[in-house]
Amino acid sequence: MKSGENSRRIFDRALTLIPGGVNSPARAFGGVGGTPIVMKRANGPYLYDVDGNRYIDYVLSWGPMILGHCHPKVNAAIAQALENGSSFGAPTEAENLIAELIIRMIPSIEKVRLVNSGTEATMSAIRLARGRTGRSKIVKFIGCYHGHVDSLLVAAGSAAATLSIPNSPGVTPGAAADTILLEYNDVAGVKSLFAEHGGEIACVIVEPVAGNMGCVPGSREFLNTLRAETSRCGSILIFDEVMSGFRVARGGAQEYYGIKPDLTTLGKIIGGGLPVGAYGGAAEIMDEVAPAGKVYQAGTLSGNPLATAAGIATLMAIESDPDFYAKIERATTRLATGLQSSADRAGIKVATPHCGGMATLFFLSDEDSCVTNWTSSSRCKRELFAQFFWSLIERGTYFPCSQFETMFTSVDHSDAIIDETLEAADAAFKSLR
Ligand SMILES: *Cc1c(COP(=O)(O)O)cnc(C)c1O
Repeated sequence: MKSGENSRRIFDRALTLIPGGVNSPARAFGGVGGTPIVMKRANGPYLYDVDGNRYIDYVLSWGPMILGHCHPKVNAAIAQALENGSSFGAPTEAENLIAELIIRMIPSIEKVRLVNSGTEATMSAIRLARGRTGRSKIVKFIGCYHGHVDSLLVAAGSAAATLSIPNSPGVTPGAAADTILLEYNDVAGVKSLFAEHGGEIACVIVEPVAGNMGCVPGSREFLNTLRAETSRCGSILIFDEVMSGFRVARGGAQEYYGIKPDLTTLGKIIGGGLPVGAYGGAAEIMDEVAPAGKVYQAGTLSGNPLATAAGIATLMAIESDPDFYAKIERATTRLATGLQSSADRAGIKVATPHCGGMATLFFLSDEDSCVTNWTSSSRCKRELFAQFFWSLIERGTYFPCSQFETMFTSVDHSDAIIDETLEAADAAFKSLR
């Protein structure tokens, strides 16, 4: 490990130019202290920093790089699209191709609209749900993150939790007033809310496998209850699959659980590393969006040719490999079970929930034996996590820089790569005081 001299110099300069030195808070190392590592390039499972250090990467740009970095087919697709022009503001055939791929792979989607980020996708899906139902109230779960939409930036987990601003200044009481909060995986809470207020609720938005309080899979009973109660009361069920889409299974968490939401939001993987989001569902609902319908939503760069090309190349690579998710699942399981037994050997109490290509190493509080919601997640020992994180950095391993983020694997995370990580983790657990 070479000194982080260049990282420090560049980050110090960034602090004078960019708020907090970063363009997104999740990168600021708020949860682990110290200076963020400034990256220069990436390839396959590896990241390379500006001081010449190499890391095995478990952040993967916070999820998108499921084919590994610089996949030759994705890079070639972007280069080819660029030859033809980077934006037209007019329809292209490539937009049909990515829509066809998404519709073929995600069970509940019959029509889909492309946007530029996950945040735009959730914001638009909420508007559509309210427009269709004529109701105002929305339900979200504590610790779930759905982007920085005003009405959803309440108890929002992830970087917002690390920074302790679950309720951001600038979000007016009015914007959040129609947002009802419930604890994740709380079946009784959902039932009693719908018994009393079901007729006022426009939609429920949920991460079916939560990834923004660390990886916390929804229980089957919880997700089935959401489906049953929203159907009974005429509310829209939105699965926010910006993270879990194309990551926990080919058809996302909805395929994994066998539950059909009314609307699905996507992002991350469908852009193959370029900025994209999408929302979709039954044609009948989606046709309420302008210009087919009256719910307004637009975007100058939506369906951008470069982003669309990267997305198509990524989804085609996934679709053409029947073993794709078996490989992803294998890597993640090897990582999670390896970390668990390594911690057990060192006498450190952890939990390692995982699902598809998502996993988290939770340093459990003394009172918990697992993590099922924000209450148990937020009690985890963040100082131990921070020590462990830096110990892994010293050993060439880049984990997410917060206890409340999820680790991701790619198809480039071979057994040998995972085993190298487990060796580093073994030493890191032993180094904890
Ligand atoms: C990342 C994420 C978002 C926000 O996506 P951006 O592209 O960062 O705006 C929304 N929902 C979930 C579940 C996410 O993980």
